[in-house]
Amino acid sequence: MSGDSTRVTHAGLPHAAQGEPFLPGPTFAAPTHWSGEGGPGGYGRYDNPTWTRYEAALGELEGGEAVVLSSGMAAVAAVLLPVLHPGDVLVAPSDAYPGVRTIATDHLRTRGVEVRLVPSTDAAFREAAVGATLVWVETPTNPGMDLLDVAGLARAVHGGGGLLAVDGTLATPLRQRALDLGADFAMSSASKHLTGHSDLVMGYVATRNAARAAAIRTHRGLMGAIPGPFEVWLAHRSLPTLAVRLERQEANAAVLQQALEAHPAATDVRWPGFGSVLAFTLADAEAAERFLGAARLVADATSFGGVHSSAERRGRWGTDDLPEGFIRFSAGIEDAGDLVADVRAALDAAG
Ligand code: PLP
Repeated sequence: MSGDSTRVTHAGLPHAAQGEPFLPGPTFAAPTHWSGEGGPGGYGRYDNPTWTRYEAALGELEGGEAVVLSSGMAAVAAVLLPVLHPGDVLVAPSDAYPGVRTIATDHLRTRGVEVRLVPSTDAAFREAAVGATLVWVETPTNPGMDLLDVAGLARAVHGGGGLLAVDGTLATPLRQRALDLGADFAMSSASKHLTGHSDLVMGYVATRNAARAAAIRTHRGLMGAIPGPFEVWLAHRSLPTLAVRLERQEANAAVLQQALEAHPAATDVRWPGFGSVLAFTLADAEAAERFLGAARLVADATSFGGVHSSAERRGRWGTDDLPEGFIRFSAGIEDAGDLVADVRAALDAAG
């Protein structure tokens, strides 16, 4: 297999054709000219060649068949809703991305699906997986930054006849290929590292099972959870830099981890050793706000994975059981020296 940068640079591109661009432009179409029997190509809610190229790229990276959707949450719903029916059992993390928990409790539980929310540990998932239809995990966990044993969980879940879905948003397919590890679904928000410039909202699911991929496509078309062709083209255009962006972000995250650990204001510094996202805790909400206010190079913003460093006091949303001073920090691609100096000064200000 080629190296990461080679793969992302070429993923999903058509064969060279005289006079054609490397990446063809977006196809804007609601209906297309389409005669005879009905088929998927006839209408833009079901099919689009710009999606198909990007899906080919994502499929290569994940090692499966990928379906692109309008957001990470649309991708979450496209796994959960077609798979789970009344009487089925969903196991999901009690610290999952909040939207996942809300779908589980407000939409699935109320429609007769048994929902078991458990802490994100291998042992808790293994225990809860008995009798489960679908086990949903996030790894690295967000925002706890813990790692789960996907291969071990896949064996346990399959042993009980269930399916395993992995939200690998924090890892990207360059650092974790959940399907290779035995997962049935690899889901990601492409709004983060995959697109990387904090200007797109998108998501996808990959699977090796053709029937499940078809069910996700059908769901996408029926719900209209479709991304615009221009956005998908931009996403594909952003893909070749994924490996270099990620390497730079990880180099920055590594030096930031050291700087944070060396500073008395920050405790419980967490970084899984890859990806752009770190977490640490300051004394209280006020200290966290002082830190965010003092940092010049770090945007006070939610989300992560973009080229600009950003951070937020995660407790501001009221959705997670976290210390008030908990900061989720996304390392961008700024020069390490500038970033560390800025973060040190902001930590000094946080006191
Ligand atoms: N999963 C994780 C781990 C996330 O962090 C997010 C968004 O922050 C989502 C899913 C949802 O993705 P989106 O915002 O693209 O809908």
